[in-house]
Amino acid sequence: MAAHQEKKLAQERKHKPSQNDTQLSQVQWGRAWEVDWFSLASILFLLLFAPLIVYYFIMSCDQYQCSLTDPLRDLLTGNKHLSDIWNKTPALTYRAAGIYCLWVAFQVVLYMFIPDFCHKFLPGYVGGVQEGAVTPAGVVNKYEINGLQAWIITHVLWFANAYYFHFFSPTIIFDNWIPLLWCANILGYAVSTFAMIKGYFFPTNAKDCKFTGNFFYDYMMGIEFNPRIGRWFDFKLFFNGRPGIVAWTLINLSYAAKQQELYGQVTNSMILVNVLQGIYVLDFFWNEAWYLKTIDICHDHFGWYLGWGDCVWLPYLYTLQGLYLVYHPVRLGTANAVGVLMLGLIGYYIFRVTNHQKDLFRRTDGNCRIWGKKPQYIECSYMSVDGTKYYSKLMTSGFWGWARHFNYTGDLLGSLAYCLACGFAHILPYFYIIYMTILLTHRCIRDEHRCSSKYGKDWKHYTAAVPYRLIPGLF
Ligand code: NDP
Repeated sequence: MAAHQEKKLAQERKHKPSQNDTQLSQVQWGRAWEVDWFSLASILFLLLFAPLIVYYFIMSCDQYQCSLTDPLRDLLTGNKHLSDIWNKTPALTYRAAGIYCLWVAFQVVLYMFIPDFCHKFLPGYVGGVQEGAVTPAGVVNKYEINGLQAWIITHVLWFANAYYFHFFSPTIIFDNWIPLLWCANILGYAVSTFAMIKGYFFPTNAKDCKFTGNFFYDYMMGIEFNPRIGRWFDFKLFFNGRPGIVAWTLINLSYAAKQQELYGQVTNSMILVNVLQGIYVLDFFWNEAWYLKTIDICHDHFGWYLGWGDCVWLPYLYTLQGLYLVYHPVRLGTANAVGVLMLGLIGYYIFRVTNHQKDLFRRTDGNCRIWGKKPQYIECSYMSVDGTKYYSKLMTSGFWGWARHFNYTGDLLGSLAYCLACGFAHILPYFYIIYMTILLTHRCIRDEHRCSSKYGKDWKHYTAAVPYRLIPGLF
């Protein structure tokens, strides 16, 4: 098993700390200990405005056919008051609250009580109990990887209902979209607040907690590294994957069903968005064990950024293209449709191959072949807080020799394809590529800052060997 092998290798490579090493252990890696003014200002901005941004986008589709400028124009010219818009906004309903509670409870049941069986019959799939990476405090957590199974069960039930049982309409998500937004917000805030209180009073692992002393920063970026309830309910793995990402494809299916209901057909643009985003979501669950080694799980603490973000931001803003296509059923010409499909598939190919190359390299400790050759790499070392020294390697072969984050470049190409499927009449569906560009560029910088403090001069050698971040020769 991949994670098992990695831990064994790490244990073989670590050695007892010397005095020098112990001094070095004061060098911290992981989330910041001190908050600069820019970070604090960004955090306050997001805490104040992110919920409003989500509301604005969804409301503009509901009341203004997805125009982002018309609501502003109405407000600025005095044609409408804020209260007019607010009064037209659907309120929280018992029905939506019921749907949402059932949805989250169902995902909890799938996550907690049905151990993975997919890895027993799907060749190449890594599921069941897996280990995460070493945390800054030197802990290795175990996870039950059963997201693919949860996704399959949920979607089989969805189709069984749509085509056979007819207990509810497949347009149910679209039809309750704004009332469900209130429920998602309630859960997002509740979870983030609970995580903060838990971090203070009953953390899962006190050594992996970080307190900056700034309430807003700690609330936003989280205190606990891997909050858990009991042995297995891991907040990060649950909230990021399910209900957020399992819901992503269901939300798109609900939009497609709405198009069918309204126009008697599903457009090729809607099919493209469903297929391309479906591939991305399935990829996520197929590689859920690999996800344990990504920044979200390995480096980010669990606060509002992940808690509220997973409950609200992700399901509402990552699905804007499908929502837009309900209001504007774009029919693409064959050449455009093929172009969008190709771009989406090329983006996905780069994203997957780049991620796979790093995973293979790390899993085999460099004893593998990348593009038919033995990979080249830079040896590096770092310390955990207990003063243990670890050795690691940064690969400079394959796509990792082209740029330091070529996986992000692939992700961005794929994201652009979803947006292009919606044509050029409105800016709203392009929010995703704008947001992903900001998110991934910021992530590059954040990750490199962290890697630089983790690896020190070894990181400098690496950036000299691979000088570009996203686009070879440009950036
Ligand atoms: P990466 O998978 O690129 O992981 C970065 C880490 O990999 C670094 O911190 C470092 O960790 C290690 N690393 C960096 N360079 C090398 C190298 N040359 N050789 C070996 N290891 C290296 O980043 P993310 O976790 O951010 O992203 C994973 C995927 O998820 C990406 O494809 C991204 O596009 C996608 N993503 C999608 C999002 C979405 O909202 N749709 C959001 C975020 C990510 P270490 O400390 O172990 O050395």
